[in-house]
Amino acid sequence: MTRLIFLGPPGAGKGTQAAALVNLFLVPHISTGDILRTAVAEKTELGQKAETYMNAGELVPDDLMLGLIRERLNQEDAQSGWILDGFPRNVAQAEFLDYLLADIHQPYDFVVNLDVPDEVILARLQKRGRQDDNESVIRHRLDVYRSQTSPLIEFYRSRQKLISINGNQPMETVTSDLKQLVSI
Ligand code: ADP
Repeated sequence: MTRLIFLGPPGAGKGTQAAALVNLFLVPHISTGDILRTAVAEKTELGQKAETYMNAGELVPDDLMLGLIRERLNQEDAQSGWILDGFPRNVAQAEFLDYLLADIHQPYDFVVNLDVPDEVILARLQKRGRQDDNESVIRHRLDVYRSQTSPLIEFYRSRQKLISINGNQPMETVTSDLKQLVSI
């Protein structure tokens, strides 16, 4: 049973590394960004509410996110483990996740922090070209990360659950570092 939470700035490679590890652990990759982008594309109620925030590089409000993650973690395929990518993104989400995981008896193994310097992040995101990847939105997403998400590094370090990995290395090297560190 593997349950991992991926932390790190936008463009750190969370999605890429999560995708590499799901094949190894045979658990679903739960990306809140992917779930939201699908909702936007399908024009669901959630998608319509989330779209403006996403395009502006803001966090989608917690009242939408908490219910979404609770529902997703209660689905059948999540009972055998998961890799969580994009949640939690602020302290309120992290506290809710602690409470939720205790409630559904799904303790996480580790929180993986992918460490990448700002200038590398900027260069990567400018190349990626997603709808929310233009210069000013990227900068705003980085500010949001710094002010709201990065405090979670301390939050999980103090719980002795944090693993930090140098994300500024070739993709395969990051994957093999990860495999070594989380191997049980
Ligand atoms: P990135 O790699 O840029 O961090 P994501 O795909 O994880 O991108 O997220 C894209 C956008 O989706 C975020 O900028 C935010 O608007 C929204 N989002 C994703 N996860 C969350 C979350 N847990 N809470 C609030 N908003 C979120």
